[in-house]
Amino acid sequence: MRGDLLLYQSHRPLLLFLAAYAQLLVGSSVAGAATPSQREEIQQRPNIPQLPPPASCIAQCSSLPSSQEVMTHLDQLRQRHGEHIATESIGRTAEGRDVILVRLYPGNPSIRYPIVLGIFGQHGDEHDSTVLGLDLLDRLADGPPLDFEVDLIPQMNPDGADADLSGTVPPLTCRKNRRPESRAVGVDLNRNWGYGWGAGPPPSSINYPGSGPFSEAETRAVRDWLQTQSNVRLVMDVHSGQSTFDQGTVGFPFAGKEDGGLASVDRPRLAAIADNLARTLSDPADPRPALSAMQSHEVRAHVERAIRAHFPVIWPIVAWTSLPPSTIAPGSSIDWVYGTLCIPAFGLELSRPPSQAELPTYSAIVERRRQGLAMRLENWFRTRGCQLL
Ligand SMILES: [Zn+2]
Repeated sequence: MRGDLLLYQSHRPLLLFLAAYAQLLVGSSVAGAATPSQREEIQQRPNIPQLPPPASCIAQCSSLPSSQEVMTHLDQLRQRHGEHIATESIGRTAEGRDVILVRLYPGNPSIRYPIVLGIFGQHGDEHDSTVLGLDLLDRLADGPPLDFEVDLIPQMNPDGADADLSGTVPPLTCRKNRRPESRAVGVDLNRNWGYGWGAGPPPSSINYPGSGPFSEAETRAVRDWLQTQSNVRLVMDVHSGQSTFDQGTVGFPFAGKEDGGLASVDRPRLAAIADNLARTLSDPADPRPALSAMQSHEVRAHVERAIRAHFPVIWPIVAWTSLPPSTIAPGSSIDWVYGTLCIPAFGLELSRPPSQAELPTYSAIVERRRQGLAMRLENWFRTRGCQLL
Protein backbone atom coordinates (compact mmCIF):
# COMPACT_ATOMS: atom_id res chain seq x y z
CA MET A 1 0.00 0.00 0.00
CA ARG A 2 3.00 2.05 -0.60
CA GLY A 3 1.49 5.20 -2.07
CA ASP A 4 -0.14 6.34 1.10
CA LEU A 5 2.79 5.64 3.28
CA LEU A 6 5.99 6.68 1.80
CA LEU A 7 7.89 9.46 0.29
CA TYR A 8 6.30 10.94 -2.76
CA GLN A 9 8.50 10.50 -5.79
CA SER A 10 8.47 14.19 -6.57
CA HIS A 11 9.62 15.08 -3.08
CA ARG A 12 12.48 12.66 -2.83
CA PRO A 13 15.27 15.00 -3.90
CA LEU A 14 14.06 17.59 -1.43
CA LEU A 15 13.80 15.01 1.30
CA LEU A 16 17.30 13.77 0.70
CA PHE A 17 18.56 17.32 0.91
CA LEU A 18 16.66 17.85 4.14
CA ALA A 19 18.00 14.61 5.58
CA ALA A 20 21.56 15.65 4.87
CA TYR A 21 20.86 19.14 6.21
CA ALA A 22 19.33 17.74 9.36
CA GLN A 23 22.36 15.60 9.96
CA LEU A 24 24.65 18.56 9.62
CA LEU A 25 22.43 20.77 11.71
CA VAL A 26 21.71 18.61 14.70
CA GLY A 27 23.96 15.62 14.32
CA SER A 28 20.93 13.42 13.97
CA SER A 29 21.16 10.04 12.33
CA VAL A 30 19.73 9.62 8.86
CA ALA A 31 17.09 7.08 7.99
CA GLY A 32 18.25 3.53 8.49
CA ALA A 33 21.32 4.37 10.57
CA ALA A 34 21.66 3.16 14.13
CA THR A 35 21.52 5.67 16.93
CA PRO A 36 24.31 5.50 19.57
CA SER A 37 22.02 3.63 21.95
CA GLN A 38 21.06 1.19 19.20
CA ARG A 39 24.72 0.60 18.32
CA GLU A 40 25.46 -0.07 21.95
CA GLU A 41 22.60 -2.51 22.12
CA ILE A 42 23.88 -4.38 19.06
CA GLN A 43 27.39 -4.58 20.48
CA GLN A 44 26.00 -6.12 23.65
CA ARG A 45 24.18 -8.88 21.82
CA PRO A 46 25.78 -12.30 21.54
CA ASN A 47 27.03 -13.29 18.14
CA ILE A 48 24.14 -13.65 15.77
CA PRO A 49 24.21 -17.10 14.19
CA GLN A 50 24.73 -17.36 10.48
CA LEU A 51 21.60 -17.92 8.49
CA PRO A 52 21.18 -21.46 7.24
CA PRO A 53 21.45 -21.98 3.50
CA PRO A 54 18.30 -21.85 1.44
CA ALA A 55 16.08 -24.83 2.09
CA SER A 56 15.37 -25.46 -1.54
CA CYS A 57 17.59 -27.36 -3.92
CA ILE A 58 15.94 -25.42 -6.70
CA ALA A 59 17.89 -22.42 -7.87
CA GLN A 60 16.61 -19.24 -6.27
CA CYS A 61 14.71 -16.86 -8.45
CA SER A 62 16.56 -13.70 -9.32
CA SER A 63 16.00 -10.61 -7.20
CA LEU A 64 14.12 -9.02 -10.12
CA PRO A 65 11.90 -11.82 -11.40
CA SER A 66 9.99 -11.30 -14.63
CA SER A 67 6.63 -13.01 -15.14
CA GLN A 68 8.34 -15.58 -17.36
CA GLU A 69 10.87 -16.36 -14.66
CA VAL A 70 8.08 -16.82 -12.13
CA MET A 71 6.39 -19.31 -14.46
CA THR A 72 9.64 -21.22 -15.04
CA HIS A 73 10.38 -21.33 -11.32
CA LEU A 74 6.92 -22.71 -10.56
CA ASP A 75 7.27 -25.33 -13.32
CA GLN A 76 10.52 -26.55 -11.75
CA LEU A 77 8.94 -26.64 -8.32
CA ARG A 78 5.95 -28.60 -9.60
CA GLN A 79 8.19 -31.13 -11.33
CA ARG A 80 10.14 -31.60 -8.13
CA HIS A 81 7.21 -31.97 -5.76
CA GLY A 82 4.68 -33.75 -7.88
CA GLU A 83 1.19 -33.85 -6.50
CA HIS A 84 1.97 -31.58 -3.55
CA ILE A 85 2.19 -28.54 -5.82
CA ALA A 86 -0.41 -27.35 -8.28
CA THR A 87 -0.56 -24.15 -10.27
CA GLU A 88 -3.49 -22.60 -12.03
CA SER A 89 -4.27 -19.43 -13.89
CA ILE A 90 -7.07 -17.59 -12.11
CA GLY A 91 -7.31 -14.75 -14.61
CA ARG A 92 -5.65 -12.91 -17.44
CA THR A 93 -4.33 -9.37 -17.44
CA ALA A 94 -4.96 -6.59 -19.94
CA GLU A 95 -1.70 -7.50 -21.68
CA GLY A 96 -2.56 -11.19 -21.74
CA ARG A 97 -0.42 -12.53 -18.92
CA ASP A 98 -1.79 -15.10 -16.51
CA VAL A 99 -2.41 -14.38 -12.85
CA ILE A 100 -1.00 -17.55 -11.34
CA LEU A 101 -2.04 -19.15 -8.08
CA VAL A 102 0.06 -21.91 -6.51
CA ARG A 103 -1.34 -24.48 -4.13
CA LEU A 104 0.94 -26.26 -1.69
CA TYR A 105 -0.94 -29.27 -0.36
CA PRO A 106 0.08 -30.83 2.93
CA GLY A 107 -1.03 -34.28 1.82
CA ASN A 108 -3.76 -35.67 -0.31
CA PRO A 109 -5.06 -32.94 -2.66
CA SER A 110 -8.56 -34.34 -2.40
CA ILE A 111 -8.80 -33.48 1.30
CA ARG A 112 -10.08 -30.03 2.21
CA TYR A 113 -7.53 -28.42 4.49
CA PRO A 114 -7.71 -24.95 6.01
CA ILE A 115 -6.07 -22.48 3.64
CA VAL A 116 -3.78 -19.52 4.18
CA LEU A 117 -3.58 -17.27 1.14
CA GLY A 118 -0.55 -15.07 0.49
CA ILE A 119 -0.76 -12.30 -2.12
CA PHE A 120 2.55 -10.96 -3.39
CA GLY A 121 3.54 -8.45 -6.04
CA GLN A 122 0.25 -6.58 -6.22
CA HIS A 123 2.33 -3.50 -7.00
CA GLY A 124 4.55 -3.93 -10.05
CA ASP A 125 7.59 -2.16 -8.66
CA GLU A 126 7.72 -4.18 -5.42
CA HIS A 127 9.80 -7.03 -6.83
CA ASP A 128 11.07 -8.01 -3.40
CA SER A 129 7.52 -9.00 -2.47
CA THR A 130 7.45 -11.55 -5.30
CA VAL A 131 10.95 -12.75 -4.33
CA LEU A 132 9.75 -13.32 -0.77
CA GLY A 133 6.72 -15.26 -2.02
CA LEU A 134 8.85 -17.59 -4.14
CA ASP A 135 11.52 -18.02 -1.47
CA LEU A 136 8.82 -18.87 1.07
CA LEU A 137 7.26 -21.36 -1.31
CA ASP A 138 10.66 -23.04 -1.91
CA ARG A 139 11.22 -23.37 1.81
CA LEU A 140 7.75 -24.65 2.65
CA ALA A 141 7.78 -27.14 -0.22
CA ASP A 142 11.19 -28.57 0.70
CA GLY A 143 10.57 -28.73 4.45
CA PRO A 144 8.30 -30.98 6.52
CA PRO A 145 4.65 -30.87 5.41
CA LEU A 146 2.30 -28.48 7.15
CA ASP A 147 -1.13 -29.44 8.41
CA PHE A 148 -2.86 -26.76 6.35
CA GLU A 149 -2.78 -25.67 2.74
CA VAL A 150 -0.77 -22.64 1.64
CA ASP A 151 -1.92 -20.90 -1.51
CA LEU A 152 0.21 -18.14 -2.97
CA ILE A 153 -0.17 -15.62 -5.74
CA PRO A 154 3.51 -14.77 -6.25
CA GLN A 155 3.00 -11.97 -8.73
CA MET A 156 -0.50 -10.51 -8.82
CA ASN A 157 0.52 -7.71 -11.19
CA PRO A 158 2.73 -9.35 -13.84
CA ASP A 159 2.12 -6.60 -16.41
CA GLY A 160 3.40 -3.97 -14.00
CA ALA A 161 6.40 -6.07 -12.97
CA ASP A 162 7.47 -6.77 -16.53
CA ALA A 163 7.03 -3.13 -17.54
CA ASP A 164 9.10 -2.07 -14.55
CA LEU A 165 11.96 -4.28 -15.75
CA SER A 166 11.57 -3.54 -19.44
CA GLY A 167 13.61 -0.37 -19.63
CA THR A 168 10.73 1.43 -21.34
CA VAL A 169 9.71 3.18 -18.11
CA PRO A 170 11.92 4.45 -15.30
CA PRO A 171 12.75 1.42 -13.14
CA LEU A 172 11.08 1.01 -9.76
CA THR A 173 8.21 3.30 -10.66
CA CYS A 174 5.66 0.97 -12.22
CA ARG A 175 3.37 0.44 -9.30
CA LYS A 176 0.09 0.19 -11.21
CA ASN A 177 -1.10 -2.32 -13.76
CA ARG A 178 -0.74 -1.43 -17.45
CA ARG A 179 -4.28 -0.97 -18.71
CA PRO A 180 -4.54 2.38 -20.52
CA GLU A 181 -7.33 4.69 -19.48
CA SER A 182 -8.01 8.36 -20.14
CA ARG A 183 -4.61 9.10 -21.69
CA ALA A 184 -2.86 7.55 -18.70
CA VAL A 185 -1.72 4.02 -18.01
CA GLY A 186 -2.61 1.84 -15.12
CA VAL A 187 -4.72 1.45 -12.01
CA ASP A 188 -3.48 1.06 -8.46
CA LEU A 189 -4.80 -2.43 -7.84
CA ASN A 190 -4.70 -1.99 -4.09
CA ARG A 191 -7.27 0.80 -4.36
CA ASN A 192 -9.50 -1.13 -6.74
CA TRP A 193 -11.09 -3.65 -4.36
CA GLY A 194 -14.79 -3.32 -3.70
CA TYR A 195 -15.08 -2.58 0.01
CA GLY A 196 -15.15 1.12 0.70
CA TRP A 197 -13.96 1.86 -2.83
CA GLY A 198 -13.99 5.53 -3.66
CA ALA A 199 -13.31 7.55 -6.76
CA GLY A 200 -10.51 9.88 -5.91
CA PRO A 201 -7.17 10.57 -7.53
CA PRO A 202 -7.17 11.06 -11.32
CA PRO A 203 -5.83 8.49 -13.81
CA SER A 204 -2.42 10.13 -13.75
CA SER A 205 -2.05 9.47 -10.00
CA ILE A 206 -0.05 6.53 -8.67
CA ASN A 207 -3.11 5.83 -6.48
CA TYR A 208 -5.72 5.96 -9.26
CA PRO A 209 -8.39 3.50 -8.05
CA GLY A 210 -9.89 2.73 -11.46
CA SER A 211 -13.26 3.66 -12.92
CA GLY A 212 -15.11 1.55 -10.38
CA PRO A 213 -14.61 -1.25 -7.87
CA PHE A 214 -13.10 -4.33 -9.47
CA SER A 215 -12.69 -2.58 -12.80
CA GLU A 216 -9.40 -4.47 -13.25
CA ALA A 217 -8.85 -8.05 -14.38
CA GLU A 218 -6.31 -8.73 -11.63
CA THR A 219 -8.56 -7.78 -8.72
CA ARG A 220 -11.51 -9.58 -10.30
CA ALA A 221 -9.39 -12.71 -10.68
CA VAL A 222 -8.48 -12.86 -6.99
CA ARG A 223 -12.00 -11.87 -5.91
CA ASP A 224 -13.61 -14.58 -8.05
CA TRP A 225 -11.21 -17.22 -6.80
CA LEU A 226 -11.73 -16.27 -3.16
CA GLN A 227 -15.49 -16.37 -3.59
CA THR A 228 -15.31 -20.00 -4.68
CA GLN A 229 -13.33 -21.00 -1.58
CA SER A 230 -14.96 -21.77 1.74
CA ASN A 231 -11.89 -22.82 3.67
CA VAL A 232 -9.63 -19.75 3.58
CA ARG A 233 -8.81 -18.85 7.17
CA LEU A 234 -6.31 -16.03 6.74
CA VAL A 235 -5.05 -13.75 3.98
CA MET A 236 -1.82 -11.81 3.98
CA ASP A 237 -1.02 -9.23 1.32
CA VAL A 238 2.70 -8.51 1.21
CA HIS A 239 4.07 -5.13 0.10
CA SER A 240 7.30 -3.25 0.47
CA GLY A 241 6.32 0.34 0.45
CA GLN A 242 7.22 1.64 3.85
CA SER A 243 9.86 4.26 4.33
CA THR A 244 13.30 3.13 5.41
CA PHE A 245 12.87 4.54 8.90
CA ASP A 246 12.00 1.19 10.42
CA GLN A 247 11.61 -2.45 9.44
CA GLY A 248 7.98 -2.05 8.50
CA THR A 249 4.45 -2.60 9.73
CA VAL A 250 1.81 -5.29 9.88
CA GLY A 251 -1.57 -3.66 9.40
CA PHE A 252 -5.03 -5.06 9.99
CA PRO A 253 -8.38 -3.74 8.74
CA PHE A 254 -9.58 -1.24 8.11
CA ALA A 255 -7.26 0.80 5.93
CA GLY A 256 -9.98 2.87 4.33
CA LYS A 257 -11.70 4.48 7.30
CA GLU A 258 -10.46 7.43 9.28
CA ASP A 259 -11.67 5.99 12.56
CA GLY A 260 -10.71 2.43 11.74
CA GLY A 261 -14.35 1.31 11.75
CA LEU A 262 -13.55 -1.98 13.45
CA ALA A 263 -15.89 -3.52 15.98
CA SER A 264 -14.18 -3.39 19.34
CA VAL A 265 -14.77 -7.08 19.84
CA ASP A 266 -12.73 -7.88 16.71
CA ARG A 267 -9.76 -5.70 17.45
CA PRO A 268 -7.94 -7.81 20.06
CA ARG A 269 -8.03 -10.92 17.90
CA LEU A 270 -6.71 -9.18 14.80
CA ALA A 271 -4.18 -7.21 16.79
CA ALA A 272 -2.82 -10.37 18.41
CA ILE A 273 -2.25 -12.05 15.05
CA ALA A 274 -0.69 -8.92 13.58
CA ASP A 275 1.54 -8.52 16.60
CA ASN A 276 2.65 -12.11 16.31
CA LEU A 277 3.47 -11.66 12.64
CA ALA A 278 5.38 -8.47 13.37
CA ARG A 279 7.46 -10.07 16.11
CA THR A 280 8.26 -13.14 14.02
CA LEU A 281 9.25 -11.14 10.96
CA SER A 282 11.44 -8.61 12.73
CA ASP A 283 15.16 -9.02 12.23
CA PRO A 284 16.96 -8.85 15.59
CA ALA A 285 20.18 -7.90 13.83
CA ASP A 286 18.61 -4.86 12.19
CA PRO A 287 19.34 -1.70 14.19
CA ARG A 288 16.14 -0.02 13.05
CA PRO A 289 12.93 -0.34 15.07
CA ALA A 290 11.24 -3.71 14.66
CA LEU A 291 8.05 -4.21 12.68
CA SER A 292 5.02 -2.77 14.43
CA ALA A 293 1.46 -4.07 14.40
CA MET A 294 -1.36 -1.58 14.05
CA GLN A 295 -4.67 -0.95 12.45
CA SER A 296 -3.86 0.24 8.94
CA HIS A 297 -5.37 3.69 9.35
CA GLU A 298 -2.87 4.34 12.14
CA VAL A 299 0.15 4.02 9.88
CA ARG A 300 0.38 7.73 9.13
CA ALA A 301 0.79 8.60 12.79
CA HIS A 302 3.34 5.83 13.12
CA VAL A 303 5.43 7.14 10.21
CA GLU A 304 5.21 10.66 11.60
CA ARG A 305 6.60 9.46 14.90
CA ALA A 306 9.48 7.75 13.08
CA ILE A 307 10.28 10.94 11.16
CA ARG A 308 10.19 12.91 14.40
CA ALA A 309 12.66 10.53 15.99
CA HIS A 310 15.09 10.92 13.10
CA PHE A 311 14.70 14.64 12.54
CA PRO A 312 13.91 16.09 15.95
CA VAL A 313 14.47 19.70 14.89
CA ILE A 314 12.96 19.95 11.43
CA TRP A 315 10.55 17.02 11.56
CA PRO A 316 7.47 19.14 10.70
CA ILE A 317 9.11 20.17 7.42
CA VAL A 318 10.21 16.64 6.61
CA ALA A 319 6.78 15.26 7.49
CA TRP A 320 5.15 17.89 5.33
CA THR A 321 7.30 16.95 2.34
CA SER A 322 7.18 13.21 3.01
CA LEU A 323 3.61 12.39 3.84
CA PRO A 324 0.60 12.76 1.60
CA PRO A 325 -2.44 14.54 3.08
CA SER A 326 -3.98 11.24 4.04
CA THR A 327 -2.75 7.70 4.44
CA ILE A 328 -6.25 6.31 4.44
CA ALA A 329 -6.39 3.70 1.70
CA PRO A 330 -9.93 2.97 0.47
CA GLY A 331 -10.37 -0.01 -1.79
CA SER A 332 -7.53 -2.11 -0.40
CA SER A 333 -7.40 -5.88 -0.50
CA ILE A 334 -7.43 -6.46 3.24
CA ASP A 335 -10.53 -4.30 3.72
CA TRP A 336 -12.47 -6.27 1.11
CA VAL A 337 -11.33 -9.66 2.38
CA TYR A 338 -12.25 -8.84 5.95
CA GLY A 339 -15.20 -6.53 5.34
CA THR A 340 -16.91 -8.73 2.76
CA LEU A 341 -15.74 -12.27 3.46
CA CYS A 342 -15.04 -11.90 7.19
CA ILE A 343 -11.65 -13.56 6.75
CA PRO A 344 -8.84 -12.10 8.89
CA ALA A 345 -6.55 -10.20 6.54
CA PHE A 346 -3.23 -8.48 7.08
CA GLY A 347 -1.20 -6.06 5.04
CA LEU A 348 2.55 -6.47 5.48
CA GLU A 349 4.56 -3.40 4.59
CA LEU A 350 8.20 -4.36 4.63
CA SER A 351 10.88 -1.76 4.55
CA ARG A 352 11.47 -0.79 0.95
CA PRO A 353 14.93 -0.78 -0.54
CA PRO A 354 15.68 2.91 -1.23
CA SER A 355 13.24 3.92 -3.90
CA GLN A 356 15.61 6.37 -5.52
CA ALA A 357 18.02 3.51 -6.12
CA GLU A 358 18.74 2.11 -9.54
CA LEU A 359 17.97 -1.54 -10.20
CA PRO A 360 21.48 -2.87 -9.32
CA THR A 361 21.37 -1.20 -5.91
CA TYR A 362 17.84 -2.38 -5.28
CA SER A 363 18.80 -5.88 -6.37
CA ALA A 364 21.80 -5.99 -4.03
CA ILE A 365 19.66 -4.99 -1.06
CA VAL A 366 17.06 -7.61 -1.87
CA GLU A 367 19.79 -10.27 -2.14
CA ARG A 368 21.19 -9.29 1.22
CA ARG A 369 18.00 -9.64 3.15
CA ARG A 370 15.93 -12.19 1.25
CA GLN A 371 16.90 -15.40 3.03
CA GLY A 372 16.46 -13.92 6.47
CA LEU A 373 12.99 -12.67 5.61
CA ALA A 374 11.95 -15.94 4.02
CA MET A 375 13.27 -17.92 6.96
CA ARG A 376 11.35 -15.83 9.48
CA LEU A 377 8.13 -15.96 7.47
CA GLU A 378 8.54 -19.72 7.08
CA ASN A 379 8.97 -19.91 10.83
CA TRP A 380 5.66 -18.11 11.31
CA PHE A 381 3.91 -20.58 9.04
CA ARG A 382 5.45 -23.56 10.81
CA THR A 383 4.89 -22.45 14.37
CA ARG A 384 2.87 -19.44 15.34
CA GLY A 385 0.72 -19.49 12.24
CA CYS A 386 -0.47 -23.00 12.97
CA GLN A 387 -1.44 -22.09 16.50
CA LEU A 388 -3.46 -19.11 15.39
CA LEU A 389 -5.40 -20.84 12.66
ZN1 LIG B 1 2.55 -2.10 -2.42
